[in-house]
Amino acid sequence: MPAQNAQVLFPVNVDGPFDYEVPYGMEIVPGDFVFAPIGQQMKLGVVWGLQPAEDGRSLKPLAQKKSCPSLPPIMLKFVDWTARYNCASPGMVLRMVMSSYKALEPSPVVTHFRPSGNTDLRLTAARQIILDKGGPFPARASEIAERAGVSAGVVRGFAEIGGLLAESLPVDQAFQIPDPDQEGLDLSAGQRDAAEKLIAIQKKPGFSVSLLDGVTGSGKTEVYFEAAAEALKQGGQVLVLVPEIALTQAGMKRFEARFGAVPAPWHSALGDAERRRVWREVASGRAKLVVGARSALYLPYPNLQLTVVDEEHDTSYKQEEGVIYNARDMAVVRAMLSKQSVILASATPTLESLVNARMGRYNHIVLPERPGAITLPDIDLVDLKDHPPEKGDFLSEPIIEAAWTALSRGEQAMFYLNRRGYAPLIICRHCGDKLKSPDTDSWLVEHKKTGRAICHQTGFSMRMPKVCPSCHAEDSLTSVGPGVERIAEEAARHFPEARIEILSSDTSGNPEMIRQRMARMEQGEIDILVGTQMVVKGHNFPNLTFVGVVDGDLSLVGGDPRAGERTYQTLVQVAGRAGRADKSGHALIQTHQPQHEALQALAAGDRERFIAAELSMREMLGLPPYGRLAGVVVSGPDVKRTEDLAHKFVSLAPRAEGIEILGPSEPPLARLRGRFRRRILIQANAGIDLSAYMRNWRQRMKVPSKYRLHVDIDPQSFM
Ligand SMILES: [Zn+2]
Repeated sequence: MPAQNAQVLFPVNVDGPFDYEVPYGMEIVPGDFVFAPIGQQMKLGVVWGLQPAEDGRSLKPLAQKKSCPSLPPIMLKFVDWTARYNCASPGMVLRMVMSSYKALEPSPVVTHFRPSGNTDLRLTAARQIILDKGGPFPARASEIAERAGVSAGVVRGFAEIGGLLAESLPVDQAFQIPDPDQEGLDLSAGQRDAAEKLIAIQKKPGFSVSLLDGVTGSGKTEVYFEAAAEALKQGGQVLVLVPEIALTQAGMKRFEARFGAVPAPWHSALGDAERRRVWREVASGRAKLVVGARSALYLPYPNLQLTVVDEEHDTSYKQEEGVIYNARDMAVVRAMLSKQSVILASATPTLESLVNARMGRYNHIVLPERPGAITLPDIDLVDLKDHPPEKGDFLSEPIIEAAWTALSRGEQAMFYLNRRGYAPLIICRHCGDKLKSPDTDSWLVEHKKTGRAICHQTGFSMRMPKVCPSCHAEDSLTSVGPGVERIAEEAARHFPEARIEILSSDTSGNPEMIRQRMARMEQGEIDILVGTQMVVKGHNFPNLTFVGVVDGDLSLVGGDPRAGERTYQTLVQVAGRAGRADKSGHALIQTHQPQHEALQALAAGDRERFIAAELSMREMLGLPPYGRLAGVVVSGPDVKRTEDLAHKFVSLAPRAEGIEILGPSEPPLARLRGRFRRRILIQANAGIDLSAYMRNWRQRMKVPSKYRLHVDIDPQSFM
């Protein structure tokens, strides 16, 4: 065999692979894990490519091939694509893929025991009990001991004389195999029709994207289950991406009910042992059904046949730190590279996906019905100029009355406000100072329940001060504006008899607490739920018939070009909580801007009108999907130097037609965790390869240490 060189990519912040000599006799292929020297260290990397050795070029040799399965070839392409598109380091993308080093080792083993069937042994009473009560076998010594009420030493002693046989079993068990033929839920005619279409698409080989578009409660999950069943029948792997917050036990139970097997889970809170188990089982192809948050996309599936992105509009698919990417978009890329199919599901699809569907690039599958329900709720606007709440209050007369009506019928009501805590702002009446986070340009939020003032950007928290930190006046601090705690307090005044609870990420702490509160709401043990964003993620409250949106204007302000769309999506999802099964619902939205197009279209129940207005506005301004955006954030410890760097970067921009550069400017979060920030926005015509442009530009500047420059392709956050 002629001498070869190997390119090896390491999971570190580098621009590409390094070259090594392949030692004589070492057989490797791309995707193999190898140890190779980098600086003074020996590091684990992945063979990215092989080439005939060049004469006269002397390279360090690879140290060793790791004996473990290699990465599937598709993952190499996917890493490169992700890095190129998002202007990220391929090494850092590989690091996302290598998320469990322990998964590269075989599972640890544990000794199990089972009866040997040897009848020649003298059985003491304790040994007889082990045989009678120690099962089911095989089991660990400790399990047998506990069931039999003896010590583990007695169990081991029995094994030593031959009464029990010991065997080593892997700690990491395989996942149950999902059964696609198990009977699903009864589908309505409309659902059946949509499911048939998706099954037909799944049967055709090759790349496809389908937008599954249906109002809240139309049964999208049951419909994509059928496409998943088809992919499983073909022997492939299926990945269902869901927003992290929807990864509750209740959510997993639906998969179990349909496929008779618990899916492999993947999310940020997974422990090391479970992480290692899932990674290894996915890599081997044995885990057939994975349900996970966005990073589950970077597990090494050798045979992925279908990816479902549920709630495709959800902003949590965008990773904002480290490698900045949008898992929804990367799922489509992954499918394109491996020629498989993707389903994007949503009640409120993004305009980008809708336009792709209308242009025929995506299959558009619409679920028009809401089985069992009469209609979507009636949505009305409450103009706060005409119906101002009482002084110091935030709930207007019409909202209070509508809630009364629901409660008097024995039904439930919900007040929605996407603001945690008691008040978003604490101000001193004496000197006018606002309480700010010490190292971040963000106001502290009062949390009355815990008696603390908290920064929601960084998690900084302090006891609510008794005196003003600036002027030291006593009892001068006053709370401005509403948070969910304050709305709950106000609701308790209006509805003294009602059982009122708050649902937000800090009142409810962990996912299990959230699940319990959801269950109480579902079972009618709560009359009024006051909730944040948390409540909009696809939960079923059959007896909830009224939703009051406290501040419909909240997300209409700010520099985010998708603000109108976000407001529309959120309000549709919130209003969609009202009225399920056999009861019709009603939603009221309080607003200072009743003329806003998003709110008007919402009140009219006219999605088409909203989409048309929003699209024509975006077309006029050249915003996505008619143009492309990239964001750049420059940050560092010194304000002047950060500003200078941002200006210098702008001056280095390559000249190109159809590109407009805005900024640098001071973003709303001009300081975060002690670092100053400047933002640059790049707007490009639709046909331009903005990733290539940004990559070229980025390479023109070396950023000094302690300073950072992040490129964000298709930014979702403008903070
Ligand atoms: Zn003061």
